Amino acid sequence: MLTMHVLVTGGCGFIGSALVRHLVRNTDWTVVNVDCLTYAGHLESLEEVATHPRHLLIQKHIADREAMDAAFAEYQPAAVMHLAAESHVDRSLTGPAEFINTNIVGTYTLLEAARTHYGKLAASDKAKFRFLHVSTDEVFGALGATGQFTEETRYDPHSPYSASKASADHLARAWNHSYGLPVLVTNCSNNYGPFQFPEKLIPVVIRKALAEEPIPVYARGENVRDWLHVQDHVSALLRVLETGVIGETYAIGGRAEVRNIDLVHVICKVLDELRPRPQGGTHADLITFVSDRPGHDFRYAIDCSKIERELGWKQSVTFEQGMRATVEWYLGNQAWVNAVLK
Ligand code: NAD
Repeated sequence: MLTMHVLVTGGCGFIGSALVRHLVRNTDWTVVNVDCLTYAGHLESLEEVATHPRHLLIQKHIADREAMDAAFAEYQPAAVMHLAAESHVDRSLTGPAEFINTNIVGTYTLLEAARTHYGKLAASDKAKFRFLHVSTDEVFGALGATGQFTEETRYDPHSPYSASKASADHLARAWNHSYGLPVLVTNCSNNYGPFQFPEKLIPVVIRKALAEEPIPVYARGENVRDWLHVQDHVSALLRVLETGVIGETYAIGGRAEVRNIDLVHVICKVLDELRPRPQGGTHADLITFVSDRPGHDFRYAIDCSKIERELGWKQSVTFEQGMRATVEWYLGNQAWVNAVLK
């Protein structure tokens, strides 16, 4: 039976793998997963779905125009969900080149390949085609103690990562305005959950705590982030893909603003309960303040009322439930952590 093909980029990363697992398990769509498997991409994150007949991996760089054209021509996807990116702010500070190449040149290349494909579609397929560009709230810069980002917030990116994602957002919107490509854009707050690469804050805290090593926290840990479980980000992306208005942007957030230091304490408390320290004491004793990241944005918070009101999306995982489940997941999946760190 012929099922709809959806082209997902970055489907072996943290959020992409959650999306691919969901699509293969819960829809009859065939997922064409374009992922060049950087340090952040791992087939192990797809679990049994990696070898499912409705999962096809194309191990290519998104800036490879020939390969992107070939993927569109061979699989004729009815939709694109573009998540591939260099995503780690600290890495962007020490090596920005690949952020420019993947996030900007790669997005441009994918948009051009999609435009060529779209131009050849029959009118009925054109009406259904969607290009969902997945982005971050970091493009908006930093907030002070009050206020929230909305779809109308002026762009003010501060790191090479956020500047490259901001460029990509502008390109995606321009391909809609200039060429009529049916683009949708999402800007989401910080995600957490299983399969997040072990150099990001939450897995780092768990890994250091389990190894009885100092848990590094930037400055005094006062920076505030708005946390959303990855499963809820996936449900929001699908809601936007299926019911969003072409040309529109949707801000996605967790309504869970937490200071970094409080987040670390929550994780330490769960670990104290589930895996007490061998020599006694609390895991919070391992917290060590380190000098701040250059240009560290103070606070991010998303007003996600547009997607709630217009598309009826709601998050389903509370911060407390999700964080506990995430710690439990890392405790039970140290083999995955060790495999991806090799
Ligand atoms: P990730 O770093 O975990 O995964 C990125 C994936 O893209 C990896 O599988 C990697 O191999 C692949 N990739 C990288 N460069 C590629 C290239 N040139 N060609 C093909 N594949 C390539 O990232 P993530 O945290 O899953 O983020 C996914 C998307 O969501 C990104 O666009 C990111 O900006 C956005 N986002 C992330 C968050 C978050 O909290 N993690 C929040 C909002 C938005």
